[in-house]
Amino acid sequence: MGRERLYRTEAIVLKRSDFGEADRLLTLYTPEWGKLRVIAKGVRKPASRKSGHLELFTHSRLLVAKGRNLDIVTQAETIHSFRPLREDLLRTGWAYYAAELLDRFVGEGVENRLLFNLLLAMLGWLCEDVDLDLTARFYELRLLALVGYRPQLFHCLACRAEIEPGATPFFSPASGGLLCPRCGEGQRDAREISMPALKVLRFMQTNRYELCRRLRIGRSLHAELEETMRRYITYILERNLKSVEFLQRLQREMSE
Ligand SMILES: [Zn+2]
Repeated sequence: MGRERLYRTEAIVLKRSDFGEADRLLTLYTPEWGKLRVIAKGVRKPASRKSGHLELFTHSRLLVAKGRNLDIVTQAETIHSFRPLREDLLRTGWAYYAAELLDRFVGEGVENRLLFNLLLAMLGWLCEDVDLDLTARFYELRLLALVGYRPQLFHCLACRAEIEPGATPFFSPASGGLLCPRCGEGQRDAREISMPALKVLRFMQTNRYELCRRLRIGRSLHAELEETMRRYITYILERNLKSVEFLQRLQREMSE
């Protein structure tokens, strides 16, 4: 599938950085072309008509010209501005996280419409939901499934035994999910996972967001869910995410 010299696309701004005198380098996520890096010329000039439509996390309709190296945004029009994501620091932090996670998991130019839809929905949820940790866990599980890393939460990955309530199973990032008490014992990266945590993850993996957002989850269970998902994601990406440090610092400061 080749792009025309001039093409239209919807896009969400994942990342941006200054480029040259007045330009910006944008990392976009689009329904047709997946991740795309483009130049927005002159948007740092006060009189730029495009700049407001190319803010971080904005969902816009763009007209883009094919460039020799990078393509160039020639027109931009906002579809959703997701303003709360720029006005509330905690929501900003989570939006950074959502964008960074997607950015790290996908290469450039690979179409994945479901992933685009997920990101779009996620930015909307982050504007209005109360329990954003819950929102983040749901997003992580969906994103992992869409990029081929759906964690196994029902069977032991070593012996295929079904994991039933009773003895505590293990979660092993290297295996890609659960290990039964027998297979997980002594495995270096395996950590026990409580039944309540496992039930929440299973529920979120198999139900729509409208149902999942009604879950009420206490602090210690949230901490376990976060730790489990973070270990898994960090293992796959082989590195920490910058936005996670930002969020952790923010949450520390807010709780003081
Ligand atoms: Zn087993």
